[in-house]
Amino acid sequence: MDVEVRDKIFVDGSWIKPSGDQLTDVIDSTTEEVFAKVAKATAADANKAVAAAREAFKSWSQTSPDERGKYLSRINEGISARMSQLSEIISKEVGTPLGLSQFIQVGVPASTFADMANRANEYEFEERIGNSLVVKEPRGVVAAITPWNYPLHQIAAKVAPALLAGCTVVLKPADLAPLNAYLLADVMEEVGLPSGVFNLVTGPGTEIGEALVSNPEVDMISFTGSTSVGSHIAQLAAKDIKRVALELGGKSATVILEDVFNSDETIAKAVSGGLFMCYLNSGQTCIAQTRMLVPKAKLAEIEERVAAETATYTVGSPFDAMTRVGPLVSKKQQESVRDYIRIAKDEGAQLLTGGEETPEGLDKGYFVKPTVFTGVDQNMRIAQEEVFGPVLSIISYENEKEAIEIANNSSYGLSGAVWSSDNDHAVKVAKQIRTGQVEVNGGMFNPTAPFGGYKKSGYGRELGKYGLEDFLEIKSMQLGF
Ligand code: NAD
Repeated sequence: MDVEVRDKIFVDGSWIKPSGDQLTDVIDSTTEEVFAKVAKATAADANKAVAAAREAFKSWSQTSPDERGKYLSRINEGISARMSQLSEIISKEVGTPLGLSQFIQVGVPASTFADMANRANEYEFEERIGNSLVVKEPRGVVAAITPWNYPLHQIAAKVAPALLAGCTVVLKPADLAPLNAYLLADVMEEVGLPSGVFNLVTGPGTEIGEALVSNPEVDMISFTGSTSVGSHIAQLAAKDIKRVALELGGKSATVILEDVFNSDETIAKAVSGGLFMCYLNSGQTCIAQTRMLVPKAKLAEIEERVAAETATYTVGSPFDAMTRVGPLVSKKQQESVRDYIRIAKDEGAQLLTGGEETPEGLDKGYFVKPTVFTGVDQNMRIAQEEVFGPVLSIISYENEKEAIEIANNSSYGLSGAVWSSDNDHAVKVAKQIRTGQVEVNGGMFNPTAPFGGYKKSGYGRELGKYGLEDFLEIKSMQLGF
């Protein structure tokens, strides 16, 4: 098999050799083979990229939103033109089934660039308040540090609004899924983005990430990843009062209310919707709905439906059209998820289906069976910690008040879902859930609505108008004329 080698980093508009000559292997999560190697840059390289971004900021920040929007439009076209290559790469890197890769892993980021391009002419960068002219200005040099699970989406959610705002960017993508970021840098080069406006530096988070966060020339850090690393970054950044946006983990609940059981169709939809949002991307989704909250009296019915529907989640290669659950991203991730399955058993949760054993016939690849526990106590580790694998916990409740309490019994506050046969009632319950997103009666993910967390799921909002505003400072000019 050909191994693609990208041994350079993109700094100041050129592909340059990093200061060291080491490379990082990129592993195919299905075959466990190295399919690419990318540059392992050093702190010195990260600092060079920041210097380039700082210099470029002088002129980029003075361009008009319209001009910046035109670049964003062309970036959208460049990503869309690479749809098949990018989706194949991400399916190898992350394990996402190919169809979902096209739709979510590549389609959504392309549309984020298009959405920001449209906002160039829509957004009011200036406002009059009495005798004041209020202007929204770019925050400056942004360090974008991203995870591997929806790699290009998380990059686009930072880079597109940052560029529209007039910021310049140094991107440090995740080590496990960096190749898609190289293709994005190719697009940036192709569209002729001015030198230094976008820079790509790949390497370990502990070295490159920390160098970016500690560099005094970085004005803002936009981070998506684990709560532990996010907390560490926020503490480092506090020293220089850097702006920080954090998109962190989650432990989202699907709340199925009692009235849903009045109709067979509604209960079927609630179970399907909940399971889809649990197993999506093999559970490697920050908004995964990994807790299903059901009325105690209906537990047996839910268990039967969940077990039957889980059986339809065929596990296999992301390149097989029948596959609904691909492999996990890495051996380490597979081991971690299997450990959680063992922990849940030890804590007394009842295994309904699945388990830690390798799925039949899949000895190669980091596969884990879709797994459901029932009889889960809301305080068990399986109900409190982010597993990041295809594992569901069914928790029963006595009444609606308790359902809301259980949903909120989490240090996280990222997402959730409410199902009720009464839409108004569903919205009333959704308002009591302390999370940044709630899907009400199967409402779809909206890539232009604000996205972010409460509590330990982070702060700041990405996507759409609110996402753009995270990259803007506000200045009041009191006019004496
Ligand atoms: P991670 O925190 O290990 O790494 C994220 C990024 O930070 C990577 O690029 C990594 O190299 C870098 N990094 C690691 N240590 C660093 C340090 N000391 N300083 C600076 N940078 C450092 O997370 P991950 O394993 O890549 O991703 C999984 C996590 O991301 C999960 O917890 C998931 O919930 C979360 N996530 C959140 C969202 C969201 O929008 N809320 C979206 C996707 C993933």
